[in-house]
Amino acid sequence: NTFAEIDLGEALNLNIRRCKYVKPTPVQRYAIPIALAGRDLMACAQTGSGKTAAFCFPIISGIMKSSQSALRLPRMAFPLALILSPTRELSLQIHEEARKFAYQTGVRVVVAYGGAPINLQLRELERGVDILVATPGRLVDLLERARVSLQMIRYLALDEADRMLDMGFEPQIRRIVQQMDMPPPGLRQTMLFSATFPKEIQRLAADFLSTYIFLAV
Ligand code: AMP
Repeated sequence: NTFAEIDLGEALNLNIRRCKYVKPTPVQRYAIPIALAGRDLMACAQTGSGKTAAFCFPIISGIMKSSQSALRLPRMAFPLALILSPTRELSLQIHEEARKFAYQTGVRVVVAYGGAPINLQLRELERGVDILVATPGRLVDLLERARVSLQMIRYLALDEADRMLDMGFEPQIRRIVQQMDMPPPGLRQTMLFSATFPKEIQRLAADFLSTYIFLAV
């Protein structure tokens, strides 16, 4: 009933208290235990529902608890988690929240979006990245430049999936996810958040998610 009762790891629980979150919102209350149990998830969530924390907490907690840290090579970043979002504004917002949640956890969050110079983003990536927050177009650019590899991705969150499809990002999203399906498979946990569930979203879920739980709160 409160975040204090959920063991997300000491540093993350402390940050949640610092953010003055006490009670989970409905989507958090159901999504977080499902995600912590390692299950794939498709959730109905509107803006303002608290969905950002719903996918960030299990990801940060999972990365903290595994001893695995992101591989680092001079010109190639190997994030462990990817959060895809439709717009620069939403990506910036997710990045800002995720950084607060990840404060002093050792988990590093980097954001990459289009419409801004790529050089600063490349420099941030070179310093190491555990969680990459990105818009699909800019991420495809980074993949083409071979500056990001998705081979270590263990967590994938698709935020506002219906909006990404409305904006025409389906081909980019499919290209991105394809790169995670190279061996070794079966490691990835996927969470899809959307406000609406047209056929196209259900097809994405069928293609990208393993046996999943559908959450409508
Ligand atoms: P989101 O839907 O993720 O954009 O979150 C909407 C707003 O609610 C953001 O300002 C969050 O910081 C805030 N928020 C999310 N979860 C909680 C919570 N459990 N308690 C209080 N505020 C929250």
